[in-house]
Amino acid sequence: MLKAGIVGLPNVGKSTLFNAITKAEALAANYPFATIEPNVGIVFVQDKRLDVLAQKYKPKKVVPTAYEFIDIAGLVRGASKGEGLGNQFLSHIREVDAICQVVRCFDDENVTHVDGKVDPIRDIETIKIELNLADIESIEKRIQRLEKKVKTKSKEAIQEQELLKHIKDTLDKNESPRLLDFTEEELKIIKNFNLLTMKPMIYIANVAEEGLHEPEKNPHYQNVLSYAKQEKTEVVLISAQVEMEIASLQPEEQLTFLEAYGLEKSGLNEVIEKSYDLLGLKTYFTAGEPEVRAWTFKNGMKAPQCAGIIHSDFERGFIKAETLAYDDLIKYGTPQVAKENGRVRLEGKDYVVKDGDIMLFRFNV
Ligand code: GDP
Repeated sequence: MLKAGIVGLPNVGKSTLFNAITKAEALAANYPFATIEPNVGIVFVQDKRLDVLAQKYKPKKVVPTAYEFIDIAGLVRGASKGEGLGNQFLSHIREVDAICQVVRCFDDENVTHVDGKVDPIRDIETIKIELNLADIESIEKRIQRLEKKVKTKSKEAIQEQELLKHIKDTLDKNESPRLLDFTEEELKIIKNFNLLTMKPMIYIANVAEEGLHEPEKNPHYQNVLSYAKQEKTEVVLISAQVEMEIASLQPEEQLTFLEAYGLEKSGLNEVIEKSYDLLGLKTYFTAGEPEVRAWTFKNGMKAPQCAGIIHSDFERGFIKAETLAYDDLIKYGTPQVAKENGRVRLEGKDYVVKDGDIMLFRFNV
Protein backbone atom coordinates (compact mmCIF):
# COMPACT_ATOMS: atom_id res chain seq x y z
CA MET A 1 0.00 0.00 0.00
CA LEU A 2 1.22 3.49 -0.75
CA LYS A 3 2.31 5.65 2.10
CA ALA A 4 2.13 9.38 2.59
CA GLY A 5 3.85 10.96 5.57
CA ILE A 6 2.41 13.94 7.42
CA VAL A 7 5.18 16.24 8.62
CA GLY A 8 5.37 19.74 10.03
CA LEU A 9 6.72 21.70 12.97
CA PRO A 10 5.03 21.26 16.37
CA ASN A 11 1.62 22.91 16.90
CA VAL A 12 0.73 23.36 13.25
CA GLY A 13 -2.25 20.97 13.33
CA LYS A 14 -0.74 17.63 12.31
CA SER A 15 -2.38 15.59 15.05
CA THR A 16 -5.71 17.28 14.49
CA LEU A 17 -5.56 16.33 10.82
CA PHE A 18 -4.30 12.87 11.60
CA ASN A 19 -7.13 12.31 14.07
CA ALA A 20 -9.58 13.33 11.39
CA ILE A 21 -8.05 10.68 9.16
CA THR A 22 -8.29 7.90 11.72
CA LYS A 23 -11.79 8.92 12.71
CA ALA A 24 -12.94 8.70 9.12
CA GLU A 25 -11.36 5.29 8.95
CA ALA A 26 -13.22 4.03 12.00
CA LEU A 27 -16.49 4.72 10.19
CA ALA A 28 -15.40 2.94 7.06
CA ALA A 29 -15.74 -0.55 8.43
CA ASN A 30 -15.41 -3.69 6.39
CA TYR A 31 -11.97 -3.21 4.97
CA PRO A 32 -9.56 -6.10 5.32
CA PHE A 33 -6.51 -4.73 7.08
CA ALA A 34 -3.74 -6.13 9.09
CA THR A 35 -3.12 -4.55 12.46
CA ILE A 36 -2.60 -0.86 12.19
CA GLU A 37 0.06 1.03 14.07
CA PRO A 38 -1.14 3.97 16.18
CA ASN A 39 0.59 6.48 13.93
CA VAL A 40 -0.84 4.97 10.76
CA GLY A 41 -4.22 5.95 9.32
CA ILE A 42 -5.91 4.40 6.33
CA VAL A 43 -7.82 6.57 3.89
CA PHE A 44 -9.98 5.54 0.99
CA VAL A 45 -9.72 7.02 -2.43
CA GLN A 46 -13.21 8.18 -3.35
CA ASP A 47 -14.10 7.27 -6.89
CA LYS A 48 -17.56 7.82 -8.34
CA ARG A 49 -16.89 5.14 -10.97
CA LEU A 50 -16.89 2.58 -8.20
CA ASP A 51 -20.51 3.43 -7.34
CA VAL A 52 -21.50 3.11 -10.98
CA LEU A 53 -19.80 -0.28 -11.24
CA ALA A 54 -21.59 -1.39 -8.09
CA GLN A 55 -24.93 -0.56 -9.70
CA LYS A 56 -24.05 -2.56 -12.80
CA TYR A 57 -22.46 -5.64 -11.23
CA LYS A 58 -24.50 -5.72 -7.99
CA PRO A 59 -21.63 -7.22 -6.03
CA LYS A 60 -21.76 -8.47 -2.47
CA LYS A 61 -18.90 -6.16 -1.58
CA VAL A 62 -17.43 -2.89 -2.87
CA VAL A 63 -13.83 -2.19 -1.93
CA PRO A 64 -12.24 1.18 -2.67
CA THR A 65 -8.53 1.51 -3.03
CA ALA A 66 -6.72 2.74 0.05
CA TYR A 67 -3.71 4.67 1.14
CA GLU A 68 -1.71 4.91 4.32
CA PHE A 69 -1.10 8.18 6.10
CA ILE A 70 1.67 8.18 8.64
CA ASP A 71 1.89 10.80 11.34
CA ILE A 72 5.58 11.59 11.53
CA ALA A 73 5.98 13.65 14.66
CA GLY A 74 9.16 15.13 15.97
CA LEU A 75 10.49 17.43 13.33
CA VAL A 76 12.13 20.41 14.97
CA ARG A 77 14.91 22.77 14.02
CA GLY A 78 18.13 20.78 14.31
CA ALA A 79 16.54 17.37 13.61
CA SER A 80 19.26 16.53 11.10
CA LYS A 81 21.77 17.09 13.91
CA GLY A 82 19.87 14.80 16.24
CA GLU A 83 17.60 17.35 17.98
CA GLY A 84 14.14 16.17 19.01
CA LEU A 85 13.58 12.71 17.60
CA GLY A 86 16.26 13.53 15.07
CA ASN A 87 17.40 10.65 12.96
CA GLN A 88 14.52 8.44 13.93
CA PHE A 89 12.19 10.99 12.45
CA LEU A 90 14.21 11.25 9.27
CA SER A 91 14.29 7.48 8.79
CA HIS A 92 10.49 7.46 8.97
CA ILE A 93 10.35 9.97 6.14
CA ARG A 94 12.62 7.77 4.06
CA GLU A 95 9.92 5.09 4.06
CA VAL A 96 7.11 7.17 2.57
CA ASP A 97 6.22 7.68 -1.09
CA ALA A 98 5.06 11.26 -0.66
CA ILE A 99 5.38 14.00 1.94
CA CYS A 100 2.42 16.09 3.04
CA GLN A 101 3.76 19.08 4.90
CA VAL A 102 1.25 20.77 7.20
CA VAL A 103 1.87 24.49 7.35
CA ARG A 104 0.30 26.66 10.01
CA CYS A 105 -1.69 29.52 8.52
CA PHE A 106 -3.98 30.14 11.48
CA ASP A 107 -3.43 32.80 14.11
CA ASP A 108 -4.46 31.76 17.58
CA GLU A 109 -2.95 33.32 20.67
CA ASN A 110 -3.79 30.26 22.70
CA VAL A 111 -1.69 28.00 20.53
CA THR A 112 1.97 28.89 20.85
CA HIS A 113 4.34 28.66 17.96
CA VAL A 114 7.77 27.10 18.54
CA ASP A 115 9.36 30.14 16.93
CA GLY A 116 7.17 32.69 18.66
CA LYS A 117 5.18 33.97 15.72
CA VAL A 118 3.16 32.45 12.87
CA ASP A 119 5.24 32.58 9.70
CA PRO A 120 4.61 29.73 7.27
CA ILE A 121 7.49 30.56 4.94
CA ARG A 122 10.00 30.44 7.79
CA ASP A 123 8.46 27.09 8.82
CA ILE A 124 8.71 25.67 5.31
CA GLU A 125 12.31 26.78 5.10
CA THR A 126 13.14 25.31 8.51
CA ILE A 127 11.93 21.94 7.30
CA LYS A 128 13.62 22.35 3.96
CA ILE A 129 16.95 22.99 5.67
CA GLU A 130 16.60 19.90 7.86
CA LEU A 131 15.79 17.67 4.91
CA ASN A 132 18.60 19.21 2.86
CA LEU A 133 21.16 18.71 5.62
CA ALA A 134 20.12 15.11 6.14
CA ASP A 135 20.49 14.43 2.42
CA ILE A 136 23.83 16.21 2.17
CA GLU A 137 25.12 13.95 4.91
CA SER A 138 23.93 10.77 3.23
CA ILE A 139 25.22 11.93 -0.16
CA GLU A 140 28.67 12.63 1.27
CA LYS A 141 28.79 9.13 2.69
CA ARG A 142 27.75 7.66 -0.65
CA ILE A 143 30.33 9.67 -2.57
CA GLN A 144 33.01 8.39 -0.22
CA ARG A 145 31.89 4.80 -0.56
CA LEU A 146 32.09 5.09 -4.34
CA GLU A 147 35.68 6.40 -4.36
CA LYS A 148 37.32 2.99 -4.73
CA LYS A 149 35.16 2.00 -7.67
CA VAL A 150 35.62 5.39 -9.31
CA LYS A 151 39.38 4.87 -9.14
CA THR A 152 38.99 1.61 -11.06
CA LYS A 153 37.19 3.68 -13.72
CA SER A 154 33.87 1.88 -13.21
CA LYS A 155 31.48 3.64 -15.55
CA GLU A 156 28.48 3.17 -13.29
CA ALA A 157 30.31 4.44 -10.24
CA ILE A 158 31.46 7.53 -12.13
CA GLN A 159 27.98 8.30 -13.38
CA GLU A 160 26.54 7.76 -9.93
CA GLN A 161 29.11 9.98 -8.32
CA GLU A 162 28.54 12.76 -10.84
CA LEU A 163 24.83 12.65 -10.16
CA LEU A 164 25.42 12.76 -6.42
CA LYS A 165 27.72 15.74 -6.77
CA HIS A 166 25.22 17.55 -8.94
CA ILE A 167 22.48 17.02 -6.37
CA LYS A 168 24.78 18.01 -3.53
CA ASP A 169 25.70 21.29 -5.29
CA THR A 170 22.00 22.06 -5.58
CA LEU A 171 21.40 21.27 -1.91
CA ASP A 172 24.43 23.34 -0.87
CA LYS A 173 22.76 26.31 -2.54
CA ASN A 174 19.63 25.50 -0.53
CA GLU A 175 17.73 24.73 -3.71
CA SER A 176 15.43 21.77 -4.39
CA PRO A 177 16.83 18.91 -6.49
CA ARG A 178 13.21 17.94 -7.23
CA LEU A 179 13.12 20.87 -9.63
CA LEU A 180 16.10 19.71 -11.68
CA ASP A 181 15.66 18.00 -15.02
CA PHE A 182 16.79 14.40 -15.03
CA THR A 183 16.57 11.71 -17.69
CA GLU A 184 14.58 8.53 -17.01
CA GLU A 185 17.84 6.66 -16.58
CA GLU A 186 19.18 9.16 -14.08
CA LEU A 187 15.94 9.06 -12.14
CA LYS A 188 16.24 5.30 -11.84
CA ILE A 189 19.69 5.66 -10.31
CA ILE A 190 18.60 8.50 -8.05
CA LYS A 191 15.73 6.40 -6.75
CA ASN A 192 18.25 4.09 -5.10
CA PHE A 193 19.69 7.02 -3.15
CA ASN A 194 16.32 7.33 -1.41
CA LEU A 195 16.75 11.04 -0.83
CA LEU A 196 14.25 12.94 1.30
CA THR A 197 14.47 15.99 -0.94
CA MET A 198 13.53 14.01 -4.06
CA LYS A 199 10.23 12.82 -2.62
CA PRO A 200 7.08 14.33 -4.05
CA MET A 201 5.68 16.88 -1.65
CA ILE A 202 2.57 18.97 -1.12
CA TYR A 203 1.91 21.75 1.33
CA ILE A 204 -1.23 21.54 3.40
CA ALA A 205 -2.13 25.06 4.46
CA ASN A 206 -4.03 24.80 7.73
CA VAL A 207 -6.26 27.85 8.12
CA ALA A 208 -8.73 28.80 10.83
CA GLU A 209 -12.29 27.54 10.55
CA GLU A 210 -13.60 31.09 10.00
CA GLY A 211 -11.08 31.77 7.26
CA LEU A 212 -11.92 28.78 5.10
CA HIS A 213 -14.45 30.86 3.11
CA GLU A 214 -12.09 33.65 2.24
CA PRO A 215 -8.58 32.33 1.84
CA GLU A 216 -7.70 35.38 -0.27
CA LYS A 217 -7.91 37.41 2.93
CA ASN A 218 -5.41 35.23 4.75
CA PRO A 219 -1.92 36.72 4.19
CA HIS A 220 -0.20 33.57 5.52
CA TYR A 221 -2.01 31.45 2.98
CA GLN A 222 -1.23 33.90 0.18
CA ASN A 223 2.46 33.77 1.13
CA VAL A 224 2.39 29.99 0.97
CA LEU A 225 0.76 30.11 -2.46
CA SER A 226 3.43 32.34 -3.95
CA TYR A 227 6.25 30.41 -2.32
CA ALA A 228 4.77 27.15 -3.59
CA LYS A 229 4.60 28.51 -7.11
CA GLN A 230 8.33 29.11 -7.04
CA GLU A 231 8.90 25.61 -5.71
CA LYS A 232 6.41 24.09 -8.17
CA THR A 233 4.59 22.53 -5.26
CA GLU A 234 0.84 22.00 -4.93
CA VAL A 235 -1.03 23.55 -2.02
CA VAL A 236 -4.16 22.16 -0.42
CA LEU A 237 -6.24 24.49 1.71
CA ILE A 238 -7.79 22.89 4.77
CA SER A 239 -8.93 23.64 8.25
CA ALA A 240 -7.80 20.73 10.36
CA GLN A 241 -10.51 21.53 12.87
CA VAL A 242 -13.22 21.42 10.23
CA GLU A 243 -11.80 18.11 8.99
CA MET A 244 -12.17 16.75 12.51
CA GLU A 245 -15.83 17.78 12.55
CA ILE A 246 -16.48 16.32 9.10
CA ALA A 247 -14.84 13.05 10.02
CA SER A 248 -17.13 12.53 12.99
CA LEU A 249 -20.27 12.81 10.84
CA GLN A 250 -22.09 10.10 8.93
CA PRO A 251 -21.59 10.24 5.15
CA GLU A 252 -25.03 11.78 4.47
CA GLU A 253 -24.46 14.48 7.05
CA GLN A 254 -21.01 15.17 5.67
CA LEU A 255 -22.44 16.39 2.36
CA THR A 256 -24.77 18.86 4.05
CA PHE A 257 -21.95 20.05 6.24
CA LEU A 258 -19.65 20.59 3.25
CA GLU A 259 -22.36 22.49 1.42
CA ALA A 260 -22.81 24.77 4.41
CA TYR A 261 -19.14 25.64 4.09
CA GLY A 262 -19.47 26.08 0.33
CA LEU A 263 -17.11 23.15 -0.22
CA GLU A 264 -17.41 20.46 -2.86
CA LYS A 265 -15.34 17.94 -1.00
CA SER A 266 -13.45 17.65 2.23
CA GLY A 267 -9.90 18.95 2.38
CA LEU A 268 -8.81 15.46 3.21
CA ASN A 269 -10.18 14.16 -0.06
CA GLU A 270 -8.33 16.86 -1.86
CA VAL A 271 -5.11 15.90 -0.13
CA ILE A 272 -5.67 12.33 -1.30
CA GLU A 273 -6.48 13.35 -4.86
CA LYS A 274 -3.53 15.69 -5.15
CA SER A 275 -1.09 13.16 -3.77
CA TYR A 276 -2.56 10.56 -6.13
CA ASP A 277 -1.81 12.83 -9.09
CA LEU A 278 1.56 13.79 -7.74
CA LEU A 279 2.61 10.18 -7.52
CA GLY A 280 1.37 9.42 -11.03
CA LEU A 281 -1.16 6.96 -9.68
CA LYS A 282 -4.05 5.50 -11.62
CA THR A 283 -6.89 3.15 -10.84
CA TYR A 284 -8.02 -0.05 -12.48
CA PHE A 285 -10.99 -2.14 -11.41
CA THR A 286 -11.90 -5.76 -10.97
CA ALA A 287 -15.61 -6.39 -11.16
CA GLY A 288 -17.80 -9.38 -10.57
CA GLU A 289 -20.61 -10.61 -8.40
CA PRO A 290 -18.59 -11.27 -5.27
CA GLU A 291 -16.72 -8.00 -5.36
CA VAL A 292 -16.18 -4.76 -7.22
CA ARG A 293 -12.84 -3.34 -6.31
CA ALA A 294 -10.51 -0.48 -7.19
CA TRP A 295 -6.75 -1.02 -7.36
CA THR A 296 -4.01 1.57 -7.47
CA PHE A 297 -1.19 1.24 -9.96
CA LYS A 298 1.58 3.46 -11.25
CA ASN A 299 1.23 5.11 -14.62
CA GLY A 300 3.01 3.05 -17.26
CA MET A 301 2.63 -0.34 -15.57
CA LYS A 302 1.91 -3.30 -17.83
CA ALA A 303 -0.82 -5.90 -17.38
CA PRO A 304 1.28 -8.56 -15.58
CA GLN A 305 2.62 -6.02 -13.07
CA CYS A 306 -0.90 -4.81 -12.42
CA ALA A 307 -2.01 -8.40 -11.90
CA GLY A 308 0.85 -8.72 -9.41
CA ILE A 309 -0.70 -6.00 -7.27
CA ILE A 310 -3.53 -8.41 -6.49
CA HIS A 311 -1.28 -11.40 -5.95
CA SER A 312 2.26 -12.29 -7.00
CA ASP A 313 0.94 -15.59 -8.47
CA PHE A 314 -1.16 -13.60 -10.90
CA GLU A 315 1.97 -11.93 -12.21
CA ARG A 316 4.08 -15.07 -12.36
CA GLY A 317 1.47 -17.12 -14.19
CA PHE A 318 0.04 -14.28 -16.25
CA ILE A 319 -1.49 -15.35 -19.58
CA LYS A 320 -3.92 -12.67 -20.75
CA ALA A 321 -6.16 -9.98 -19.37
CA GLU A 322 -9.76 -9.52 -20.46
CA THR A 323 -10.01 -5.76 -20.55
CA LEU A 324 -12.98 -3.42 -20.82
CA ALA A 325 -12.55 0.34 -20.66
CA TYR A 326 -14.83 2.00 -18.12
CA ASP A 327 -16.04 4.46 -20.78
CA ASP A 328 -16.98 1.59 -23.09
CA LEU A 329 -19.00 -0.01 -20.32
CA ILE A 330 -20.87 3.26 -19.84
CA LYS A 331 -21.40 3.64 -23.58
CA TYR A 332 -22.84 0.14 -24.03
CA GLY A 333 -24.65 -0.01 -20.71
CA THR A 334 -23.78 -3.54 -19.62
CA PRO A 335 -20.67 -5.74 -19.75
CA GLN A 336 -22.65 -8.17 -21.93
CA VAL A 337 -23.55 -5.62 -24.62
CA ALA A 338 -20.01 -4.22 -24.55
CA LYS A 339 -18.75 -7.75 -25.16
CA GLU A 340 -21.15 -8.33 -28.04
CA ASN A 341 -19.77 -5.20 -29.63
CA GLY A 342 -16.23 -6.45 -29.36
CA ARG A 343 -15.25 -4.05 -26.60
CA VAL A 344 -13.87 -6.69 -24.28
CA ARG A 345 -10.29 -6.97 -25.47
CA LEU A 346 -7.89 -9.78 -24.76
CA GLU A 347 -4.63 -8.05 -23.83
CA GLY A 348 -1.20 -9.65 -23.48
CA LYS A 349 1.86 -9.08 -21.34
CA ASP A 350 2.93 -5.88 -23.11
CA TYR A 351 -0.34 -4.07 -22.63
CA VAL A 352 0.06 -0.80 -20.74
CA VAL A 353 -2.91 -0.61 -18.41
CA LYS A 354 -5.03 2.54 -18.56
CA ASP A 355 -6.88 4.42 -15.87
CA GLY A 356 -10.40 3.04 -15.62
CA ASP A 357 -9.69 -0.36 -17.20
CA ILE A 358 -11.87 -3.14 -15.87
CA MET A 359 -9.65 -6.21 -15.84
CA LEU A 360 -10.07 -9.94 -15.52
CA PHE A 361 -6.73 -11.71 -15.36
CA ARG A 362 -6.17 -15.19 -16.74
CA PHE A 363 -3.22 -16.97 -15.26
CA ASN A 364 -1.60 -20.35 -14.67
CA VAL A 365 -1.09 -21.37 -11.11
P1 GDP B 1 0.71 19.27 16.01
O1 GDP B 1 1.67 19.54 17.11
O2 GDP B 1 1.22 19.80 14.70
O3 GDP B 1 0.28 17.86 15.93
O4 GDP B 1 -0.56 20.20 16.30
P2 GDP B 1 -1.97 19.82 16.91
O5 GDP B 1 -2.82 19.15 15.89
O6 GDP B 1 -1.80 19.14 18.21
O7 GDP B 1 -2.55 21.28 17.11
C1 GDP B 1 -1.95 22.17 18.04
C2 GDP B 1 -3.04 23.05 18.56
O8 GDP B 1 -3.56 23.86 17.53
C3 GDP B 1 -4.20 22.29 19.13
O9 GDP B 1 -4.62 22.95 20.31
C4 GDP B 1 -5.28 22.40 18.07
O10 GDP B 1 -6.57 22.38 18.59
C5 GDP B 1 -4.95 23.73 17.46
N1 GDP B 1 -5.36 23.81 16.06
C6 GDP B 1 -5.14 22.91 15.06
N2 GDP B 1 -5.72 23.32 13.92
C7 GDP B 1 -6.30 24.50 14.20
C8 GDP B 1 -7.08 25.44 13.44
O11 GDP B 1 -7.35 25.25 12.24
N3 GDP B 1 -7.49 26.56 14.10
C9 GDP B 1 -7.20 26.79 15.43
N4 GDP B 1 -7.63 27.90 16.00
N5 GDP B 1 -6.53 25.92 16.17
C10 GDP B 1 -6.07 24.81 15.57
